[in-house]
Amino acid sequence: MPVTGASQPATSPGGAHGLEGAYLRCRNLGMRLSRQRRMVLELLWDEKDHLSARDIFERLNARGRNIGHTSVYQNLEALQSAGVIECLDRATGRLYGYRSDPHSHLTCLDSGTIQDLDVELPAELLQQIERATGYRIESYTLSLCGRRQD
Ligand SMILES: [Zn+2]
Repeated sequence: MPVTGASQPATSPGGAHGLEGAYLRCRNLGMRLSRQRRMVLELLWDEKDHLSARDIFERLNARGRNIGHTSVYQNLEALQSAGVIECLDRATGRLYGYRSDPHSHLTCLDSGTIQDLDVELPAELLQQIERATGYRIESYTLSLCGRRQD
């Protein structure tokens, strides 16, 4: 089962065109690319992590970017509802990530950090699921949890 971490060079992490691809998707959706919206997208692509609106606000301000918390939040919501970025609903609140394509997650049970993973299930297993459910599987995401082995 081929598994690659997001930090390794993959063929198309988050779509083929990186940050420029995200800008292009916004334009194609008719979304205005305001300075604030570009700041938020740029930060998500730089960090390649799953962050709360507060994390993103704090990191932008730490970089000297002048942006309000409400603007960060509104831009994140607009981007996630348009499908340009990822949004994970967690008990502690929403987390946003740069990838918009289907992918899996590995959550560290000690630190709570979430890594993107590209996991490909064997075709045989997918066929079994299709036979059992009567559905044609078009995409899937796995949620894995674990602890780092020393
Ligand atoms: Zn993710």
